[in-house]
Amino acid sequence: MTAFEATRAWAEAQDAADPLRAFRDEFHIPAHAGADTLYFCGNSLGLQPKGVRAAIEAELSDWAELAVEAHFRGRLPWMHYHEYVRDAMAEVVGARPHEVVAMNSLGANLHLMMVSFYRPTAERSAILMEAGAFPTDRYALESQVRFHGFDPSRDLIELQPDGPGGTLSMTAIERAIAEHGHRVALILLPGVQYRTGQVFDLEAIVRLGHAQGCVVGFDLAHAVGNLPLALHDAGPDFAVWCTYKYLNAGPGAVAGAFVHERHARADLPRFAGWWGHDKSTRFQMGPHFSPTPGADGWQLSNPPILALAPLRASLNVFTRSGMARLVEKSRRLTAYLDWLIRTRLDDTLDIVTPDDPTQRGAQLSIRVRAGRDAGRSLFEHLERHGVIGDWREPDVIRLSPVPLYNRYADCFGAVEAIEAWVR
Ligand SMILES: *Cc1c(COP(=O)(O)O)cnc(C)c1O
Repeated sequence: MTAFEATRAWAEAQDAADPLRAFRDEFHIPAHAGADTLYFCGNSLGLQPKGVRAAIEAELSDWAELAVEAHFRGRLPWMHYHEYVRDAMAEVVGARPHEVVAMNSLGANLHLMMVSFYRPTAERSAILMEAGAFPTDRYALESQVRFHGFDPSRDLIELQPDGPGGTLSMTAIERAIAEHGHRVALILLPGVQYRTGQVFDLEAIVRLGHAQGCVVGFDLAHAVGNLPLALHDAGPDFAVWCTYKYLNAGPGAVAGAFVHERHARADLPRFAGWWGHDKSTRFQMGPHFSPTPGADGWQLSNPPILALAPLRASLNVFTRSGMARLVEKSRRLTAYLDWLIRTRLDDTLDIVTPDDPTQRGAQLSIRVRAGRDAGRSLFEHLERHGVIGDWREPDVIRLSPVPLYNRYADCFGAVEAIEAWVR
């Protein structure tokens, strides 16, 4: 690897030579004291692409000028609106277009997917998940177990972290699947653990799970737009994600779902709605539900146009940048921040996130060695100085250099700000 240097001049030279540098200008960067903030929070809420405003305004104009007619005669006829994000979203997650759909929110999609893919029986009733999962996942899974009349204390199997910094080893996952697999109906794991930043080997988990007869689904909230995903080939039964983190589609933006092609025409139980009905006969308004093949068949409602417009604009950025180039920059940018912290702040900070580049994305979770109070004090110091990360209880500061808009100089500036706190 190229040797890094801990100087502003070196960082700025990297930015000047960065083939993706022009993308930063496509985002609104919040200001702090007259300068750009050093925004390291794209893992929580991505910055606003400048194209979003025009995309929403175009739909407002069509509504004003055409009203109901815009369903057919709008610039982008509303009737097909969810299809306008399909190809770009499939590209980002490495799926075939008919395997993905933009709809609802992540939590709602997780429940809809479980209606179809968590089918517990007396012999096989359990869900295997990680302890310390994002709360909505825990709540959703537990409530599904109860909904089916089973007992979470027995049927929710939570994998305990066994690695440094609260990470979970592949060996532990493998062992749990071998031990419990015969009674597991569903394995549900994240692509990236939100607190530690650890990346899971999706393909290996699918292989192990399927070999034991388990259904496998993923929550890709922190993985989509961050990691090089190949969902079709990895082969999970389903996946869900939100689009306001690395995908930059705006607060509470319309989420995504993936249903593997092998289920495209399967007669699975589901909660149905008219927008999931076969498109060719939807407007015959008949009483019998006949699902559209593929992920579209899980839609309930006609899509929220004003909420999908930002997603269309934000995915357009990914179509032009391409995930491969983003991942390449991301690995080097995160490696730089990692290197700066290890070389300059080794006495003060621990990095929780694995240093193996295949086991992390654009996020470093750090802890102040002196403890939680010192961690809070550092976090507040950073905020006061325009370095925006986030805090996750009990003691983690997350910093995410996002390749679309973060710079090497941002990483340098963040480490300078931490050093000022240490002194
Ligand atoms: C961000 C995140 C969510 C958020 O769920 P919403 O339904 O979008 O509010 C859920 N799960 C994980 C793992 C997340 O990181």
